[in-house]
Amino acid sequence: MSTIKPQPGILDIAPYVGGSSKIEGVSEPLKLSSNENPFGPSQKAVETFRRAGLDLHRYPNTDHGALRAAIAEVHRVDADRIICGVGSDEVITFLCQAYAGPGDEVIHTEHGFSMYKISTLAVGATPVTVAETDRVVDVDAILAGCTDRTRLVFIANPGNPTGTMVPMKELKRLAAALPAQALLVLDGAYAEFAEGFDGGAALVEARDNVVMTRTFSKLYGLGGLRVGWGYGPADVIDVLNRIRGPFNLSKPQLETAEAALRDTQYVTKCKSENARLRVWLREALLALGLEVDESHANFLLVRFADQAEAVACDTFLKDQGIIVRLVAGYGFPNGLRITVGDEAGCRRVAHTIGLFKGAGE
Ligand SMILES: *Cc1c(COP(=O)(O)O)cnc(C)c1O
Repeated sequence: MSTIKPQPGILDIAPYVGGSSKIEGVSEPLKLSSNENPFGPSQKAVETFRRAGLDLHRYPNTDHGALRAAIAEVHRVDADRIICGVGSDEVITFLCQAYAGPGDEVIHTEHGFSMYKISTLAVGATPVTVAETDRVVDVDAILAGCTDRTRLVFIANPGNPTGTMVPMKELKRLAAALPAQALLVLDGAYAEFAEGFDGGAALVEARDNVVMTRTFSKLYGLGGLRVGWGYGPADVIDVLNRIRGPFNLSKPQLETAEAALRDTQYVTKCKSENARLRVWLREALLALGLEVDESHANFLLVRFADQAEAVACDTFLKDQGIIVRLVAGYGFPNGLRITVGDEAGCRRVAHTIGLFKGAGE
């Protein structure tokens, strides 16, 4: 064994497992495993990306001014309190690096996103898992889990893979009752899919202990581009900027994200298609006797009788060229998370699950 060892905590990290994208022998599978936009990104964004490729000898700017101004305009927030990162994952990483270390505790909930735990362990801090109640974040359980060593509390709203939401009123109560040294992080990766929801921006503005993260990976269809952002109190954003690499985002990333953001007509279309098909797909699955909570995101969590049935359905779908996500790693051994696809994709996955259920009877 080598005498060269990594920092404490690093070897405790279970590597992130993404949604698969291939099935042996299937040339174009229907991929519903990573909550990607089934319609892809805006054509304006794609054109901008092509143009940006002609300028690769130029360094990008370091302050992300144009993108922050566009975000401020579209989301009606203050440009000076925005930080842009390589996906919201990077903003999550900055938060852990800046605010937690050995001896500190970072809270995430039972079915929370796995990056919270990975980033916590990467800085040598201790992840603390708090139970949810019926697949919804439980504010009282979080408060009961807080100690004088709690530094960060991560909540995705809507949640992934549950798709459920915790009411803003509850989050206000949580922010007000957290220990003085703890920061509340509201991960709004799916905020745009929840009708009339600001992702927690107003709460960020009302308090000095709340940060919101957002992404271009989901609604904007730019998961492959890697751009996200955070919104927080001026002093927190200043801290995060000190550890951010000055050139963390390339010119193509910055310019493409801005073009996607400004194509509001396209974004509105994607959002309304998702809202319509999310209801349709849930009804179709409920009609098959499956358990499916109402979702506020771009996916549904489908619960089967047991793990064996979930795994059998996953295999059946793969045999038919459809990829969904097993979520045992998120505390749902009997679950499959299915991204809301386009209309043909939704009809196909519902039909195929129907065949699976029929075949089992
Ligand atoms: C997809 C997702 C993100 C987004 O990650 P990016 O790094 O921005 O691609 C963040 N949080 C949750 C809960 C997600 O599901």
